[in-house]
Amino acid sequence: MKSFIQYEEHSDFSIYNIPFGVAIFGDEEISCVTRIGDTVINLAVLYENGYFDEFDLGENVFEAFTLNEFISLGKSVTVPVREHIQILLLENSELSKDEDTQTEAFHSIESVSMQLPVHVPNYTDFYSSIEHATNVGKMFRDPDNALLPNWKHLPVGYHGRASSIVVSGTPIHRPKGQTLPADSEIPVFGPTKRLDFELEIAFITNSYTDLGESVSTKEAEEHIFGLVLFNDWSARDVQKWEYVPLGPFLAKNFGSSVSPWIVTLEALEPFRVEGPKQEPEVLPYLKYEGNKNFDIHLQTIIATENAGENVVCTSNFKYMYWNMAQQLAHHTVNGCNLEAGDMYASGTISGKTEDSFGSMLELTWGGSNPLKLKDGSERKFIEDNDTVIMRGWCEKEGKRVGFGEVSGKILPTID
Ligand code: MN
Repeated sequence: MKSFIQYEEHSDFSIYNIPFGVAIFGDEEISCVTRIGDTVINLAVLYENGYFDEFDLGENVFEAFTLNEFISLGKSVTVPVREHIQILLLENSELSKDEDTQTEAFHSIESVSMQLPVHVPNYTDFYSSIEHATNVGKMFRDPDNALLPNWKHLPVGYHGRASSIVVSGTPIHRPKGQTLPADSEIPVFGPTKRLDFELEIAFITNSYTDLGESVSTKEAEEHIFGLVLFNDWSARDVQKWEYVPLGPFLAKNFGSSVSPWIVTLEALEPFRVEGPKQEPEVLPYLKYEGNKNFDIHLQTIIATENAGENVVCTSNFKYMYWNMAQQLAHHTVNGCNLEAGDMYASGTISGKTEDSFGSMLELTWGGSNPLKLKDGSERKFIEDNDTVIMRGWCEKEGKRVGFGEVSGKILPTID
């Protein structure tokens, strides 16, 4: 496949991708968009100019602040619409000859402001990497018995805070909270001293299910529109003091950052791989067939003014012990309902090697083994004015499909 739009060979946004996002143009107009190379395409303009006439998309579903309405049309509509966009972008297409529409709809990525792609009604965070759960268990609990007895029987998760999910580029203020100093029984209050990132991927659902209804592992992927990169910012000292017995709360809900482009499950289809063997055998409602893991290369970078970009972690989404179909089946097995736009994050994605750990907690082993940056400075955790960048991409047989990046800068605490 060759597009009439030029882009760099290693662009994440090749003709094979066709992701969806929401952009503001010139501070005035907002609408749903796609992207190829560094060209952002206003889908509302393509709609107005008749390019989607063959589809039942209501009254310009793309003229919207979010993608919720579009994605809730379901895969029977969104899959052929994406394929149609792909064909429109090929050489010698109708659109390739329509310079008026191109002038109206095409924008360079530098000239637009990307927004949160969906309104997020609900956010759940899983804990599905066995390497991450083992590392944390070793540090916080028992080195010889790191995994709790339930871990291999169900995808552990908790309900997070949807209101503080922000799009890439939004700065985050260092949170304040209660922590327990070493050798003390009395907590203190102040800015976190152990601010961390968590390298995750989140999937976004496209449907509303009824209370009492369950989604099987077989049906699950029909309910998944696509994926984004997800940084689950965490305050480790706050977390350690507050998490017993109900789990994460203020250590997590001060902010989570997501990448602006939703890469569809269909674009990721060629990159499916087998998941890790699950032993002991899981209960029947968690069994699945086929390849449900995805080979997505992941990187985390710490960028500072003096040290530039430092790659501190290289991981892969394929390491996940529990896959997305199992997570969704488990989430709904009790009758909990789904909503369109919900985000379900994977949990920190760590691999087996020390350079593949998806958080500072693991990379520096609780701060005991600091990372060295290019300017000679050291990091145990994330400092004020550091920027954390996560990138993700798939590549196979010359075809590249990527997410771009999610980036967030840490600003000092607000007094
Ligand atoms: Mn997390």
